Amino acid sequence: MATVIAAGTITPRAPRKKLDRRSTPDRSQRIRHAVQWLFVALNLWIGAQFFLWVRFFERGATGFYVPRPAGVEGWLPIAGLMNAKYLFLTGRVPAIHPAAMYLFLGFLLMSLLLKKAFCGWLCPVGTLAESLWRAGRRVFGRNLRLYRWLDVPLRGLKYLLLGFFLWIIGGMSAEMLEGFMATPYGLVADVKMLNFFRDIGLTAAIVVGLLALLSMLVQNFWCRYLCPYGALLGLASLFSPVKIRRDAEACIDCGKCARACPAGLPVDRLVQIRSAECSACMACVAACPAENALQFALPPRKTAALRQRWYRRALGPVAVTAVLAYIFLGAVLLAHATNHWQTNIPQAIYARLVPHIDQVTHPGI
Ligand code: SF4
Ligand code: SF4
Repeated sequence: MATVIAAGTITPRAPRKKLDRRSTPDRSQRIRHAVQWLFVALNLWIGAQFFLWVRFFERGATGFYVPRPAGVEGWLPIAGLMNAKYLFLTGRVPAIHPAAMYLFLGFLLMSLLLKKAFCGWLCPVGTLAESLWRAGRRVFGRNLRLYRWLDVPLRGLKYLLLGFFLWIIGGMSAEMLEGFMATPYGLVADVKMLNFFRDIGLTAAIVVGLLALLSMLVQNFWCRYLCPYGALLGLASLFSPVKIRRDAEACIDCGKCARACPAGLPVDRLVQIRSAECSACMACVAACPAENALQFALPPRKTAALRQRWYRRALGPVAVTAVLAYIFLGAVLLAHATNHWQTNIPQAIYARLVPHIDQVTHPGI
């Protein structure tokens, strides 16, 4: 008799079943790693252009000139959030850092459709975090799993940080948002961010080093406990119709999926993964030996006959890549087509601000 399982509830372990071994090898991790490193390469290319652009103004607007790559604003998620609120309040696309908004909205849409696929497939910080815990596993033999009494409150930290930013931005009117962006700090927030890493102080270097060490010991330490952007995308991902779904009939209860999950989710005991921690990395799907037992899929059909074929509503890694590419390129092309990709500030303003960037402080300081 089939066991009736409520979505999200823990299922009892069933007697061992016969394995219907999967017919095709899983390619999800190879494809995902390729997408991740392609996105890292894109960010390095943008970073190199931006660095050359900054150096041009630091040299007194002389020498080799490279146009400012607006894609660097993808590293300004707070500006993206502020500009999204400005758009919501006024219906107008903001003049300063509009690319930050388009990219932010694109990444938000990805989360609404495909869980936190931005974190698991695109974010360079996520890719670095994954590389660190893999390196840590090689060096120390394994990664650590924190006790639940420590893990749960630590996971709350990123929501506290997110709440802080939402509280500040939530209290700003359209005029305040526009005014902040037009301050010297708002205009060159991207240069300030670059210089944070170029001229990193001892304290900041120790903090970054400590985070890197913790990321080697604990899987995705930064993403799991501290990243407010991931927290926001995780909340959006709760609405995603595509989720990791387990077919209890096909599952042989081997537990390989749960052991492979970097978020520590009990994939082998649930029928669907609703958790805001799921980054859609599909490592669980890759680890599963049973045919169609685990999929990244839309909800199953309601009728029994169609339920048998629910796996056909699954998204493979190529489909996930295609959806991410459509959204990313769609956001960039839409911004270009409406002439809202570039921040249009006269070069004279950059020539005045960039060489004296140390004197540009946050307006709240
Ligand atoms: S449940 Fe699967 S897709 Fe989600 S984080 Fe865990 S391994 Fe990745
Ligand atoms: S990997 Fe998970 S879903 Fe696949 S058979 Fe084993 S327990 Fe079931």
